[in-house]
Amino acid sequence: MNSENFKFKKKYGQNFISDKNLINKIVNSANIDKSTLVIEIGPGKGALTIELLKKCNHLIIYEIDNDLEIFLTEKLKNFDNYDIYFKDFLKADIKTDIKGINYKKIVIISNLPYYITTQIIKKIIDSNIDVDEMVLMLQKEVADRFCALPKSKEYGYMTVLLNYYFDIKKLFVVKKDMFVPKPEVDSCVIKLQKKSNVTLLKNNDTFINLIQKSFKFKRKTLRNNLRDFNLSIIEQILCKYNLSLNNRAEDIPLNVFIDIANNL
Ligand code: SAM
Repeated sequence: MNSENFKFKKKYGQNFISDKNLINKIVNSANIDKSTLVIEIGPGKGALTIELLKKCNHLIIYEIDNDLEIFLTEKLKNFDNYDIYFKDFLKADIKTDIKGINYKKIVIISNLPYYITTQIIKKIIDSNIDVDEMVLMLQKEVADRFCALPKSKEYGYMTVLLNYYFDIKKLFVVKKDMFVPKPEVDSCVIKLQKKSNVTLLKNNDTFINLIQKSFKFKRKTLRNNLRDFNLSIIEQILCKYNLSLNNRAEDIPLNVFIDIANNL
């Protein structure tokens, strides 16, 4: 198989980029130096990969599509500072894969396969690796959700979860014509920077359970969504912030969710 007869697989979200300026803009958005371990999810034909290899100490690459092995092996042949795994990132054991590599910080870069954006980000959070920053290209609508403010319709479970761990910034929009094949929607590159000052959670699972249940039925009030919890404790906390059980999850800022979770 050569470059010309590669068949793009829609099921793997294969929309590739090749514009040099765009590639540099994405790679330069991250703080990568010779002490950085970079993880790239979905290299495709290696558009970002080469530039990352030039800048980082070591690159760990995950690609689900075995048909890309031939392109990537050829393209990366002049580098030895990488490990490539042809497997589903969602099934990867990241902690094991990074064992033994020297690094000062971890950066994750990906032009994400859009069909599993949320699962990939959850996987990164659940894996408990100490990620310093992420530069991710994703659907513009999803970027809007991650950066949403309370009281907007985009504000949801992922907004609260991600904003607990990271400061999130929208960097720039990428028009759909920049991809081959052309996707149906525009994209956006966002940067997630590990928060330096987080209010510690007494129990992460309680926090996650609380926000999941709070947003389960977005039109319902907290009183209805949070029946499984101690409502009188929740009411006391809400009261401190001039909120009540009659509010919906979309009205509740991150700090209030943290306060509730730490008192349950
Ligand atoms: N980075 C390339 C670029 O910017 O041109 C390709 C990006 S393309 C949007 C997404 C890539 O992720 C594809 O190469 C696809 O095969 C790969 N991919 C899809 N699902 C994956 C998974 N579960 N694990 C690892 N890679 C995956």
